[in-house]
Amino acid sequence: MNRNDSLNSRRGFLRQGAAGLAGVTVLAAGRWPEVHARAGTETASPDRRPFIYRTLGKTGLKVSVVSMGVMNADNPNLVRAALDAGIIHLDTAHVYQRGRNEEMIGEVIKGRPRDSFIIGTKVKGGHQDRETGLFGADTSAAAFVEDFHTSLRRLQLDHVDILYLHNINKREAALFEPLLSAMLRLKKEGKTRFIGVSTHRNEPEVLRAAVESKAYDVVLTAYNFRQDHRDEVKRAIAEAAAAGLGIVAMKTQAGAYWDRERQQPINMQAALKWVLQDENVHTAIPGFTTFDQLETDLAVMADLALSPVEKKDLQPREPVTSAGLYCQQCDGCRGQCPAALDIPTLMRGYMYAYGYRNLGAAKATLAEAGLAGSPCDDCATCRVSCRQGFDVRAKVADVARLRHVPDDFLV
Ligand code: SF4
Ligand code: SF4
Repeated sequence: MNRNDSLNSRRGFLRQGAAGLAGVTVLAAGRWPEVHARAGTETASPDRRPFIYRTLGKTGLKVSVVSMGVMNADNPNLVRAALDAGIIHLDTAHVYQRGRNEEMIGEVIKGRPRDSFIIGTKVKGGHQDRETGLFGADTSAAAFVEDFHTSLRRLQLDHVDILYLHNINKREAALFEPLLSAMLRLKKEGKTRFIGVSTHRNEPEVLRAAVESKAYDVVLTAYNFRQDHRDEVKRAIAEAAAAGLGIVAMKTQAGAYWDRERQQPINMQAALKWVLQDENVHTAIPGFTTFDQLETDLAVMADLALSPVEKKDLQPREPVTSAGLYCQQCDGCRGQCPAALDIPTLMRGYMYAYGYRNLGAAKATLAEAGLAGSPCDDCATCRVSCRQGFDVRAKVADVARLRHVPDDFLV
């Protein structure tokens, strides 16, 4: 592929996102208030935003209920604006933007008082079996620790506040002794104040494993109004919170759009409120990428109650023009593909591409799924039946094109 082909590929993906990007605005001078008080629920004076704070379980950390998931952001001024507006907690990961996300945050927080921000980062534990989610025998705690030290260097910090074991969907993986011991050693050495586990598949099992471990302090879990198993996630969150774990919610916006064509945006405020109405959730990390979205997300703290219109907006659209972008990660399609494709992970990559417009994360997710070649070309008929009604073949073929776009052209 030559440079022009690469650019065309990227443009092909971005073309459908142009409308979404058109909403970017420049931060007006003096638009944001001073940093807010750090505890309690505060109703601010008229020139200040109301902020709601909750305690992140046994960590004792006071966090605003709206934090920032930095994953999709590449503008340091947006991260600065979030901190200046009163957001305390920034969430990133070793793999985001192949390290540039942590580097950007490092530049933004440099010189700020260390107790004015909370940094959570995530490190993968090594090879996980695509089908079972279990770590292989070659998983190395030493490699995990080395990656974490790389993250510390990128962030220009001597410690983070929360270190997560990234992307876990099995009890056994959450309790994998070599990695859990390594995390506890890092905590003892003061390299991280707290340890956690992140999950966006089989969340109730992972939440309960975190409780069982008696070691984890925090769980970062997918949680949103579109999850078919949301009641079960809610119960597991309640159990974990009762056990003293801090609960951070992600994927709160459920793919951001009802449809792939991005003509039907999900009501972001309503989706965020739905999660935050659960008081066992201590903070959420919406991945805003524009100043307007930052403002929209902060505004939910004025009143977490859902208005009648917002309640209606969270109901499935009729007619449902497509199954949308949010894969339930329900494993209902497990074992159906004769090529043994990891369909749930590929569908998550599809959501990153079309919902979040984060093509780098989408491509990394294709690699995580081990997608190679064009396996669908050899199938006369797709044998995968998705409970959501996804046209799996079309989505795999669509997102697989990203493999041909060089990393340098992706966020
Ligand atoms: S067409 Fe369907 S069954 Fe065949 S490889 Fe692709 S996803 Fe698997
Ligand atoms: S692709 Fe469909 S069946 Fe498979 S995990 Fe996602 S929502 Fe479930």
